[in-house]
Amino acid sequence: MTTPLDYAHEHAEEFKQQLFDLLRIPSVSTDPAHKGDVRKAAEWVAAELKRVGANNVEIIPTEGHPVVYADWLGAGANAPTILIYGHYDVQPADKVADGWTSEPFEPVERNGEIVARGSSDDKGQMFIHIKVLEAYLKTLGNVPVNLKFMYEGEEEISSPHLKPFIRANKDRLKADVCVISDGGRFEKTRPNIDYSVRGMTYMQLDVWGPTRDLHSGGFGGMLSIRVRGGEQAAIDTAARVQIWKRCKNALSRSFPRDAEYKNEIYLLRISHSSDTL
Ligand SMILES: [Zn+2]
Repeated sequence: MTTPLDYAHEHAEEFKQQLFDLLRIPSVSTDPAHKGDVRKAAEWVAAELKRVGANNVEIIPTEGHPVVYADWLGAGANAPTILIYGHYDVQPADKVADGWTSEPFEPVERNGEIVARGSSDDKGQMFIHIKVLEAYLKTLGNVPVNLKFMYEGEEEISSPHLKPFIRANKDRLKADVCVISDGGRFEKTRPNIDYSVRGMTYMQLDVWGPTRDLHSGGFGGMLSIRVRGGEQAAIDTAARVQIWKRCKNALSRSFPRDAEYKNEIYLLRISHSSDTL
C-alpha cells in the first residue's frame, strides 16, 4: 500500500515545481503596486486547495488583502479539528539593495535549498500543509483529523484585517488546536515546535527639547537619559519599557514640580505611542 509519505516522496519533484510557481508570484503586501500579485497568489492558493480535494474553498475579501479559507471535515464530528494558519504574502525584495545573487522571484536551488523570496516565510510552510492533504486523500482517501485552512495576505504588514476577520468568522474557524507554520528553525535537520511565544510591543517615544546645549555640570544628573534623535536604537523591549518608565518619571513627574527649572531647560513636551499585539 502506498502511504502518504511514499506519495510525497514519489511526487517531490512535481511538488517542487508547483511551489516554484507560487514563489514566482511577487505577492508583496507592503507595496500597493503589487496588489494584483497578492490577489494572484490568493487565487493560486485557493485553486490548489480545490485541486487537491479541500472543500468550501473561498477567497474572502477584507478591507485589505483577502483571506483564503478551505476545509476538509471528512474525519467526522468526533475527530479533532486543526486550524492551519499561514500567509501567502511576502516581504519586498530589492535584488541589488538586499544583496541577492539571483532573482528574488525566480527560485533557484543552491546547496539543497530553495532560494527565493518567501520560500521560508511563509509560502514553503503553508504549501506543505496543502500537500499533506493531497498525499492523504490520494493514498488513504481520508485524513485522521479535520482540517481548516486560513491563509492570509497581510502578515508582512502586521495583519491589520485579520482580527476583524476572525471575529466575524468565529464559527467557521472553530477548532481544537491551531497550527501556525510561520516560525524559525534552530537546526536545519531537526524540526521544532514553538509554543508559549509572546506578542510584540511597538513603541515610539518623542521628546521635544531642550532647545540649547545643557552643561553636564548643571544638568547632567537630571538629564542622564540619552534619547538618540532620529536613530533606531538597538534595544530590546524590556529596555524600551525601562526607558519609557524612566522618561516618564524623570520628565513628566519631576519637572512640573519645578516650573522654573523646567523653563530653564526648555523642555517642550514628551509624548509616546504604543501598540500592543
Ligand atoms: Zn511569516
